[in-house]
Amino acid sequence: MKSQIVLEKSYLNDIDQSADIEKLSAPNKKYRAWAEVDLAALCYNAKVLKNILPDKCDLMPVLKANAYGHGDVECAKALNKIGIFTFCVAALEEAIRLRKNSIKGDILILGYTDPEECKLIAAYQLTQTVVSLSHALAMNKKGIKIKAHIKIDTGMHRLGLDYNNVDEIENIFNCRNLEINGMFSHLSASSSLSYDDLLFTNMQIKHFFESTDYLKTKGYNTGKLHLQASYGILNYPNLPCDYARAGIALFGVLSSNEKTLIKPDIHPVLSLKARIAETKNITAGEYIGYSRAHTAKSDMKIAAVTIGYADGVPRNLDKDFYVLIRGKKAFLIGLICMDQLIVDITDIPDAQEGDEVTIIGKDGEEEIRCEDLAQKCQTITNEILSRLSSRLDYIFING
Ligand SMILES: *Cc1c(COP(=O)(O)O)cnc(C)c1O
Repeated sequence: MKSQIVLEKSYLNDIDQSADIEKLSAPNKKYRAWAEVDLAALCYNAKVLKNILPDKCDLMPVLKANAYGHGDVECAKALNKIGIFTFCVAALEEAIRLRKNSIKGDILILGYTDPEECKLIAAYQLTQTVVSLSHALAMNKKGIKIKAHIKIDTGMHRLGLDYNNVDEIENIFNCRNLEINGMFSHLSASSSLSYDDLLFTNMQIKHFFESTDYLKTKGYNTGKLHLQASYGILNYPNLPCDYARAGIALFGVLSSNEKTLIKPDIHPVLSLKARIAETKNITAGEYIGYSRAHTAKSDMKIAAVTIGYADGVPRNLDKDFYVLIRGKKAFLIGLICMDQLIVDITDIPDAQEGDEVTIIGKDGEEEIRCEDLAQKCQTITNEILSRLSSRLDYIFING
């Protein structure tokens, strides 16, 4: 037998009640580092994206990775309220979390799930993606009826059955315990408008519909069809699909500053904030932060801010990264720490302990866009947002 560590939880009994925690904190608790999530902006973006698509195509919000760091349950509740009842996530646990929090509608698990988990898929009325014939056969063998969508590989070569392999696809339709309600594929280069990428994507689209049309002529009910993610919606808006899997764009940002065919009127949903913990005057020649990474060239004033890489601010940011304090830019000094970072407030002399600091979002006339922050870290917004840490507090506004 495998050895197991059993956590002795009884000592926590006195403090793990949320009521007690509220009693322990100040009446107007000032958060240390937090995400402010604008649920009205989320719903507005959903309507904007839906309006880009043909009437019969519904939005299928992608709420994986805690809704790209936005808080999956709260986002799903807000979307349920405006009549959206189809969602996707990446993993079984994410789907169960939504169900346990009373989220209504279909929840498609986009990623691989161990066939051993069929019981849970059925119990929580989830829909599982079939990623291969062997995956389908193993799930079918469990003898538990589950809902499924078939993933077709049209050229990305990540998950799914080859579009050409219709015999295998037909075999899946013949699995008696798999109720096939849909088929989908993923466009791997739809964010690019270069000539080569347009050709490639159009080929993916063609192959997908060739295989679904063929199956229809053979009498199979292919169910709901879906191909587009955010960039598919913006660059290929007119596909004859039933759903579009909107992820990043739903949260009011794009992955990068790349151009799209349709420039949607979407608004960022999330702001990332922290506070000034302490301010200090520094004399020319003194060092600041780990590894003496910064030497003060002249006398200056600095502030320690209550957010670090463990909260999701990437450590590879350097001196062209800034935050907003009292509507002004304050540039990073030295290296980002696990729980804090240090900024130059020489030009913001009235900045003081407790002041709000904006890492993503607006403060007065200034705005830090997630796309620009991602560019400075040489990544995409999807990574920045999905890696926001569970240590952050969440404030939901306009719910
Ligand atoms: C994550 C994901 C999406 C959403 O992608 P965005 O570019 O964020 O809209 C859609 N489909 C699949 C299969 C995904 O894994």
